[in-house]
Amino acid sequence: MAFFIKKLTVIGLGLIGGSLARALKERDCVGEVVGVNRTRSSLEKGMELGVIDGFTTDPVEGVRGANMVLVATPVRSIVPTVRVIAPGLMPGAVVTDAGSVKGQIVLDCEAAMPEGVHFVGGHPIAGTEHSGVEASFATLFEGSRTILTPTAGTAKDALELVTIVWEAVGSRVETMDPRHHDQVLAATSHLPHLMAYNIVKTLSDLENDVQSEVFRFAASGFRDFTRIASSDPTMWRDICLENRGAILDMIDRFGRDLDLLRGWVAAGDGDSLHRIFAQSRDTRDRVLRVDKRGRR
Ligand code: NAD
Repeated sequence: MAFFIKKLTVIGLGLIGGSLARALKERDCVGEVVGVNRTRSSLEKGMELGVIDGFTTDPVEGVRGANMVLVATPVRSIVPTVRVIAPGLMPGAVVTDAGSVKGQIVLDCEAAMPEGVHFVGGHPIAGTEHSGVEASFATLFEGSRTILTPTAGTAKDALELVTIVWEAVGSRVETMDPRHHDQVLAATSHLPHLMAYNIVKTLSDLENDVQSEVFRFAASGFRDFTRIASSDPTMWRDICLENRGAILDMIDRFGRDLDLLRGWVAAGDGDSLHRIFAQSRDTRDRVLRVDKRGRR
């Protein structure tokens, strides 16, 4: 069997790293997967589940002889990790990441690459609110999109290889400028996560203030809206710190719209409320229909 990746090293063996390893193994795309993680227990679990074929907690040791390295740690540890592994990378290796923020991370990772090694920034737009290797599964990326963020310095062959990897696991690859990626994701992902965390906080404070069971009467709308507030706090802290400018812009924009809504509620302006609810409902239905068609 001619695997197109002989040895893949996954640094940060959690939901995303574990799922890519599983998906590539299941499709016979990879000869050997080595896991590297800060915590040994994740690596032992990964072995037990057959997600990886070997492991080490030493990142430099882990990347030796690897054709491809995926860094799937929380975003604030991506650049330090890439700097640490740089001396262990073999010429011709391709390093990529899965971080939810690109911008400066991509530039710093590119700058850290030794001669003959290339970095390609990546972000699979797929995930769940669960984390850890035990939450990983081989079909996570099927029907998803992956954004790759090449720069003027990105090698064509490296971009092609990373594209083939994501396509092999069922994802549609698009390319985007790293800064533009961060603005788009601040709007579509980062702001909604902040809102979900915040509404749980608001209701929790209310429950304490009024000493009554607010959550006992939380209906399915609450469950739908707040599902993503079960996401990993370290990951989301890092995303907020790393994409601060774009997230602040989105919070301000959202705040202005919330003030408008507040004004209409205060004024009893039913026409305006009805108009905005109808517009938003139509937009959501249209976007989801298009998305469904686009995924086929
Ligand atoms: P996860 O918590 O499931 O896994 C991360 C793993 O990295 C954990 O096992 C953790 O122990 C390990 N780790 C942390 N710091 C490390 C370090 N310095 N060195 C080695 N290992 C380290 O997280 P995840 O959901 O798989 O997310 C991984 C990356 O993918 C993040 O950058 C995140 O922004 C991005 N991402 C997540 C999602 C999602 O929905 N979960 C989607 C797309 C991209």
